Amino acid sequence: MTVEGTPPVTGTDAASAVRDLFLLEVGHEPAGRWSAPGRVNLIGEHTDYNDGFVLPFAIPHRTHVQLGTRADGRIRVVSTFDEAPVEVPLDELDELFPGGRENVPTWSAYPLGVAWALLRAAGRAARTVPGVDIAIASNVPVGAGLSSSAAIESATAVALNDAWGLGLDRVALARVGRTAENEAVGAPTGIMDQMASMLGRSDAAIFLDCRTLDATVVDVGFAAADLELLVLDTGVTHAHSTGGYRDRRASCERGAEVMGVPALRDLSIADLAAAEQRLDDVTFRRVRHIVTENQRVLDTVQTLRESGPRAIGGLLVASHASMRDDFEISVPELDVAVEAALEAGAVGARMTGGGFGGAAIALVDRARRERVAASVETAFAAAGFAAPHVFSVTPSAGAARD
Ligand code: ADP
Ligand code: MG
Repeated sequence: MTVEGTPPVTGTDAASAVRDLFLLEVGHEPAGRWSAPGRVNLIGEHTDYNDGFVLPFAIPHRTHVQLGTRADGRIRVVSTFDEAPVEVPLDELDELFPGGRENVPTWSAYPLGVAWALLRAAGRAARTVPGVDIAIASNVPVGAGLSSSAAIESATAVALNDAWGLGLDRVALARVGRTAENEAVGAPTGIMDQMASMLGRSDAAIFLDCRTLDATVVDVGFAAADLELLVLDTGVTHAHSTGGYRDRRASCERGAEVMGVPALRDLSIADLAAAEQRLDDVTFRRVRHIVTENQRVLDTVQTLRESGPRAIGGLLVASHASMRDDFEISVPELDVAVEAALEAGAVGARMTGGGFGGAAIALVDRARRERVAASVETAFAAAGFAAPHVFSVTPSAGAARD
């Protein structure tokens, strides 16, 4: 089989779709074009809300934005996602968020929420900046665990930061994206996705300390080693994912409290023996996943630097086993995807994202990617699962003016 480099999402390329949309809705040339990517997480799962470490990278799939200014102090957003534009006076954003968000369509709370959070972060009153028209189109599949939400937030944030001359740096813009998602949209998420989307670099991952927000660019060396990362999207969305996420967070908080630390980040492998004495079996296994996963992120960074990407396979496989057995967030489709990829010679593979469905990733030799993809497809068919969607991603540049 042939593995796509980019999944077909809308059937049109987003960069040209956004141009058509802006022209149609606004009718003149825009002041500029910007774009920002989605992301995958190489390793470090459920560690973010435990103040721990993650290692995501930006992917080639991007959300494109075109922006023009207007004289009437209003903001209008339009997306290929939903034909109807949404228009609000800038000085009414404060009435909309967080309390009045149900007065606008949910999708529009992402870009409008970014405008609101950006003005607040910059300490600027709405009347001091010009109104804007913003058109949006995306190649990032929605809800596939590739963070289309961070892509739309980051693309809007860089565009408005430039158009309004606010001069915020990239970490500040990542925070703006998270504020928009948490307070304007009302989704309780960490900051990993926005940091990856803002800071991504070609052939590199972002090593992020979720407590301090210190971010380091780490070369992954996939290109020189002729390696690629395959996304094995199972297409499964599990009804338990929200409740499961809440339960796991609660277990982590309980574990930290019993162990007398602010967050599980403050425990190390050496503390696990004591934790096993003091915690019930389920809480202990949840804690063990977080503690060992944090260590695996640190080990992955060190291994990439010292030995290169072929040496991280065992860490990816151990991460999957920990999520399957200790954190218990895998599903049969994810386990089959990982096993079939490894059987076909993947360097390493693991489920990625929140769990209970979504995608796995597999690090593979470029020459072997078709074989790995075929192996996963065959295994899915044999197990009676719906066909997976397999595509490759390469670590790519973060948000930018195009
Ligand atoms: P993901 O895993 O893709 O980030 P989320 O539920 O966090 O899933 O975010 C998806 C939501 O973000 C969509 O339902 C929509 O409201 C919004 N969104 C993402 N991309 C776009 C877009 N191009 N245009 C409009 N809204 C978008
Ligand atoms: Mg999201």
